[in-house]
Amino acid sequence: MNFKLTDEQRMWRNAVHDFCAEIVKPKAAEYDERAEIHQDAFEKMAALGLLGMNVPESYGGASVDAISGAIAIEELGWADGGTALSVAAHNSLGCGPIATYGTEEQKQRWLPGLAKSDPGLGALALTEPGAGSDLVGGIQTRAELDNGEWVINGNKAWITNASSASLIITLCRTDPKGGSGSLSLIVVPTDAPGMHIHPPEKKMGVRASPTHALTYENVRVPQDYLLGKVGEGLYQTLQNLDTARIGIGALSVGLARAAHEEAIRYAKERQSFGKPIAERQAIQWMIADAEVQIEAARLLVYRAAWLKQEGEFHNREAAVAKLFATEMAEDVARNAIQILGSYGYSREYPVERIYRDARLMTIGEGTSEVQRMVIARRVLGKE
Ligand SMILES: Cc1cc2nc3c(=O)[nH]c(=O)nc-3n(C[C@H](O)[C@H](O)[C@H](O)COP(=O)(O)OP(=O)(O)OC[C@H]3O[C@@H](n4cnc5c(N)ncnc54)[C@H](O)[C@@H]3O)c2cc1C
Repeated sequence: MNFKLTDEQRMWRNAVHDFCAEIVKPKAAEYDERAEIHQDAFEKMAALGLLGMNVPESYGGASVDAISGAIAIEELGWADGGTALSVAAHNSLGCGPIATYGTEEQKQRWLPGLAKSDPGLGALALTEPGAGSDLVGGIQTRAELDNGEWVINGNKAWITNASSASLIITLCRTDPKGGSGSLSLIVVPTDAPGMHIHPPEKKMGVRASPTHALTYENVRVPQDYLLGKVGEGLYQTLQNLDTARIGIGALSVGLARAAHEEAIRYAKERQSFGKPIAERQAIQWMIADAEVQIEAARLLVYRAAWLKQEGEFHNREAAVAKLFATEMAEDVARNAIQILGSYGYSREYPVERIYRDARLMTIGEGTSEVQRMVIARRVLGKE
């Protein structure tokens, strides 16, 4: 077993870290306050390869290994949870299904543009007003074939990057009889007539990541905009989520690391009863616990990423990493606020934003309860 990053992975981490420290982190509070995507940062990301991490080089991507992908998302999470969420969603949800399930023609049509965000990012629309955890039972968005085109009608909810996207991969019901083979993924350009993107949701955290409800009103796309075969949508979605969850785990490690650094800095400076609070055991224990939690989470994330890059099944390991890392981040951010006292509760310091951002991570891309269901099924041999 080798715990050492390769030279390439270390160089990649340094490059992404420097970019995040210079361009993303200094503006995190401003874009959170404005509740706007940090467009300037996105314009600079393509050159570094951050917008095509899982896109092969032959289609203009950076094609980094899965551990390097996790490293990049951790650095972005350290800098700004909202920006990191949009980058993670673009790569894993927007590019991932096309890179994995697309035909040669589909990859050539969409991937080079996505890797440059030209004309926009990618997004994935699974969730609906009445369907989140239960996609099979809940999805009502329908796609019907008519004259060689899919005609799509329905509503989606909570879709990351929708207003910045050139295309939205949409989970549709293609067989009204229902069941696990009744869903399909169809690529829908955002400029298709009948595609409505509603105003951004007003959110607690990840406010630099735009989230929107969508309405599809007789949206027509060519028949070959479907990914894979008709009825494979649920399988593709679940397999893709296994990989996407590694990214949310990595993002959570980055959030926790940022809160931890802030807590350490503050604990050394703040005096009470004649000593820095860092000299009090109560504070030291919170800092020591955070150190252990972050390290454990990162190792779980790296293990799941390593399995992914080895081509191994990683359903359980991705769920373990996501569950542990996301709950850990909330915990570490909570304690960082405690260490900063009233300043921790202030918008003048970053830990309250990190806490708000961390809160999303146990909900998006499968709630903690869903991760526990996945893990329990594997442990109890129910699948
Ligand atoms: C900021 C943000 C960004 C998002 N981005 C996207 C996106 O890009 N694309 C997309 O498709 N979706 C996106 N989502 C939606 C997100 O993935 C869903 O909110 C999530 O999957 C949970 O679905 P739900 O909110 O409908 O909750 P529900 O499924 O209604 O669950 C409600 C509660 O019940 C629990 N629960 C449900 N079923 C069970 C069960 N069987 N056993 C035990 N507990 C259960 C859940 O864990 C949760 O606590 C986003 C959401 C947010 C907030």
